[in-house]
Amino acid sequence: MNQPELWVAAAASCPVLSYFLGRLNRWVGLAAGALGFGFCSLMLAGEISAGAPYLALALWAAAGLAHSVYLNGRAPGAGGSPALAAARARAAELEAELAGIKNETTLNAAGEKRSLAVYSAVKLLSETLEPQAAAKQLGRHLADFFGTEEAALYLAGGTGGEELQLFAQAGRGSSLPALPELLAAAGGWPERAGEFSGVTLAPVSAGGAPLGLIALRGANAESAAHFASEVSYALKRVILFRQVEWLSLTDGLTGLWRRGALDEKVREEIRRASAFKTTLGFMIADIDHFKRLNDTYGHQFGDTVLRRVAQLLRSGVYETDFVGRYGGEEFGIVLPRADSAGLLRKAETMRARIEGEVFSQGLEKVRLTISIGIAHFPKDGRTAEELVAAADKALYAAKESGRNRIVEAGGH
Ligand code: GH3
Ligand code: MG
Ligand code: MG
Repeated sequence: MNQPELWVAAAASCPVLSYFLGRLNRWVGLAAGALGFGFCSLMLAGEISAGAPYLALALWAAAGLAHSVYLNGRAPGAGGSPALAAARARAAELEAELAGIKNETTLNAAGEKRSLAVYSAVKLLSETLEPQAAAKQLGRHLADFFGTEEAALYLAGGTGGEELQLFAQAGRGSSLPALPELLAAAGGWPERAGEFSGVTLAPVSAGGAPLGLIALRGANAESAAHFASEVSYALKRVILFRQVEWLSLTDGLTGLWRRGALDEKVREEIRRASAFKTTLGFMIADIDHFKRLNDTYGHQFGDTVLRRVAQLLRSGVYETDFVGRYGGEEFGIVLPRADSAGLLRKAETMRARIEGEVFSQGLEKVRLTISIGIAHFPKDGRTAEELVAAADKALYAAKESGRNRIVEAGGH
């Protein structure tokens, strides 16, 4: 192809260029087509005047350009007819409506999830017989309700003390500040739900009595207060349940651990001593001729004496030792980490203390003695049963050999 023919071909393609560009933007298409055509015409300037074919080409190209402008005028995205505009507006409206419905559905689903979470929490707390196991499940309901892993529920009382204790948490709760810090931020016990130093606190109470506290991040005080009020009565049941559980572990007369609870302590301490390669002392103390005392002064006085002996035993050992009433006038004492010689010394101190005590009944002064059998882990027994049996056998030997004395297991 020679030069003019090339320019002719280029000029002829301008309407096509104009059409396709015009589909994107009508005026850009027109301008590109016109410029291209003008440029090619300029390059062909000499030839145009030279002959009719070139004139025909020029006319064809101009008509093509005009047609492309007309076509693009009808193309979508480039202006358009009123009917098209109306349809587009309607489509936009429908789209907005659809988005609204979608949003509402999501909200409804979220609301339903929250309702289900609070319902499940109340049901769980109202029916559980094992508060500790329920606490784990409650953590999941907290997470579902508040949509956060940073939520914790503290409960008051239930284990003898009245202070708040962590009961359940949504996730690991590790990024929530410690309870004393939370309460300090709130300036003490919060009367109503609110946000304190970035943490939402909501008190739980039933009938005016404070029962617990909800602490969380990322939810408003209103929803925390809502959850708190929904679960309050079910939580009260848990607290009462835990108190009963606690009471059944301790002896009503002396306040010491009951036999079952003390046996559990022995097992627990043996596990600990085995794991840490430490030792453990166990003793059984029994009041001598207690039946005689009961028969002479009456059961009521007998009870007073039991309470006093319990006090003396309790105050004679470390806070970390466990003293239980094994039944009747028999007491068991677990002394973690005690060595053999220390255990014997401690038993002797207690025996002497009871011997020196004067129990008054009216004008009468009553004295009594105790006998003690002691056993040592792991020397005298490797299991709780073996250890207790060894101490019991030693106690029997103490009684047999005259009472008011201490006998060590293994015939020492
Ligand atoms: P020993 O020196 O051999 O231990 O003689 P003991 O009389 O202490 O032992 P025994 O087992 O024969 O009697 C225990 C008495 O403890 C019988 C019962 O009257 C009395 N006892 C048991 N439980 C209670 C209690 O809760 N209150 C009172 N007051 N007495 C109790
Ligand atoms: Mg006795
Ligand atoms: Mg006895």
